[in-house]
Amino acid sequence: MHEKGRMLIKKAMKVGKLSGLDSDCNYLPCHDAIQDCTFCYCPFYPCNDPDVGGREIISSRTGQSVWSCSQCTFNHEAKNAEKILDGLIKLNEDFNLISRKELLSLKKRIIEGW
Ligand code: SF4
Repeated sequence: MHEKGRMLIKKAMKVGKLSGLDSDCNYLPCHDAIQDCTFCYCPFYPCNDPDVGGREIISSRTGQSVWSCSQCTFNHEAKNAEKILDGLIKLNEDFNLISRKELLSLKKRIIEGW
């Protein structure tokens, strides 16, 4: 994950609060109906879960297969972002030390409604 993404997530975990919509961001509107930018860099990437709107595409730049999140709003919906943050805080670990298995388990629990 990009270092900026780690910083955003670690800051939110430290203060226990979502960062909200970054109305100064040059990339807005990056997704339809975006509500929160805390997880702009998705902690679940690549989730490989087409049910949330992501899909595999061929990169026009590299010609390689890559996971695209352009149609996913899962981590940008305020209700989900709250649950992601809550789940991360409850893990009570430095974000850098949280395993991919724990992250994907958190995503699964959120989708299943806790
Ligand atoms: S498809 Fe959505 S949930 Fe999956 S990695 Fe991309 S942004 Fe995250």
